[in-house]
Amino acid sequence: MRSYDLAIIGSGPGGYVSGLYASRNELKVCVIEKDLVGGTCLNKGCIPTKSLINSASIFGRLKDAQNYGVDIDGYHVNFQRMMLRKDEVVTRLRAGIETLFKANKIDLIRQNASLKNHNTISLSGSEDIEAKYIVIAAGSKPAKLAGTIVSGEAGVMSSDEALSMKELPKSITIVGGGVIGCEFASLFNLLGVNVAIVEFMDRLIPGQSREASKKLEVIFKKRGIGIFLSSKVEGITGKDPIKISVSGGKLLESEKVLISVGRQSATEGLGLENAGVKVENGKIVVDEYLRANSDNTYAIGDCISGPLLAHKASYDGMLACDNILGKKRMRDYSNVPNCIWTDPEISSVGLTEEEARKRYPDLKIAKFPYLASGKAYLRGSVEGYIKLMGDPEGNIAGVEIMGEGACDLIGEATLARTAGVKIDEWSHVVHGHPTLSEIFHEATHIFAGTPIHGL
Ligand code: FAD
Repeated sequence: MRSYDLAIIGSGPGGYVSGLYASRNELKVCVIEKDLVGGTCLNKGCIPTKSLINSASIFGRLKDAQNYGVDIDGYHVNFQRMMLRKDEVVTRLRAGIETLFKANKIDLIRQNASLKNHNTISLSGSEDIEAKYIVIAAGSKPAKLAGTIVSGEAGVMSSDEALSMKELPKSITIVGGGVIGCEFASLFNLLGVNVAIVEFMDRLIPGQSREASKKLEVIFKKRGIGIFLSSKVEGITGKDPIKISVSGGKLLESEKVLISVGRQSATEGLGLENAGVKVENGKIVVDEYLRANSDNTYAIGDCISGPLLAHKASYDGMLACDNILGKKRMRDYSNVPNCIWTDPEISSVGLTEEEARKRYPDLKIAKFPYLASGKAYLRGSVEGYIKLMGDPEGNIAGVEIMGEGACDLIGEATLARTAGVKIDEWSHVVHGHPTLSEIFHEATHIFAGTPIHGL
């Protein structure tokens, strides 16, 4: 029987990063994957969506290129080429992970895995393997629309199918206005598709602050996206067009429907009960050290609690390894940034305004608009703001950014908050000019009562 220090089930950003980190720490590692290396993130999530969003934003910029002194005639969207580029990016990055596995002497076992007992894993196509430690990184899959009659399924898609469409539809109804639904809405809208969003809650991107939700709603509406909040889809029938009946007697019609109502952990078929691993509310139960049983099995990423994000899965993966190596690290998601690739982008770290107000009645907020940033203005990206929230001791309670580059910019705020930098100290950091990062200089000075370009 093959034997390892560590066997990892799943090669998404949780599993593969964990594998590389463990192997760099001298453990003998195998990663078992039943589908494509890279998991949801690389094959059906972060990377393909962001490749398409990048293509769409190039198209979006061309629309007003004339205003910047660039005359372009006859440009149009070549959706097939866009999809091909997305596939090229994914294939290239997948090959990169496989190369890293080889370079680090990690065995990649392309089979279905299930736990036989605490130390043994059964494989679908070869003999069992043995491991001192096991990390379960089985990820998640799209959730189904509960209680809704869906008939004539053609054209009703999850995000998985939406990423392999052959043609750009003329119209699409997106069921679910969370992060994934809104990113797709923004993408399709940029490409000229007629988009409607139906959301059960009373706002878009419910996990973010009310201000970000409202601003996004206003921007989306201005761009012609139909938004139906506090609305429930009651039935989806027919095709050409598909008819979507929505609570309140509304009937929408579109060529495609994208169901984007969340994700559920992929815990079935893993033989968890054989190793004393428990599942509650669909998620593998872990302790603060990510141990899934009292012994040697850990679980990470989308199949446990916490935000469903690739970087959180990777963080988990490294933390679990550190604990296997005896370092005793407890998980803490309070500095995991949120990044939303709508147009404009939205990002945040720490508490939302609502959470921060509850925790600190004396919360202080500094806001600076993109409109007043030289770099944002010259780029024509004036839609947006940074909101910096501080507790009474001047610690960073939370940061929210909406606007161009928000998902990259949040890195600085994440570093500052993780390192426990006080807002006063942050205001002494020198930022290059003209850059979007100057928004931090402005916001920290507004916070300190010494605004420079802000009011
Ligand atoms: P996964 O990536 O789901 O990987 C799990 C792997 O385990 C899969 O490859 C699966 O085949 C394998 N597996 C499962 N069971 C077995 C078994 N029994 N045997 C062998 N192999 C098994 N997150 C971000 O941070 N940024 C984004 O921009 C972003 N965009 C997204 C866009 C979309 C459309 C979607 C759907 C998700 C997006 N996410 C994003 C979320 C992100 O993809 C997930 O949080 C991340 O992939 C979770 O990583 P993971 O390693 O836990 O699981």
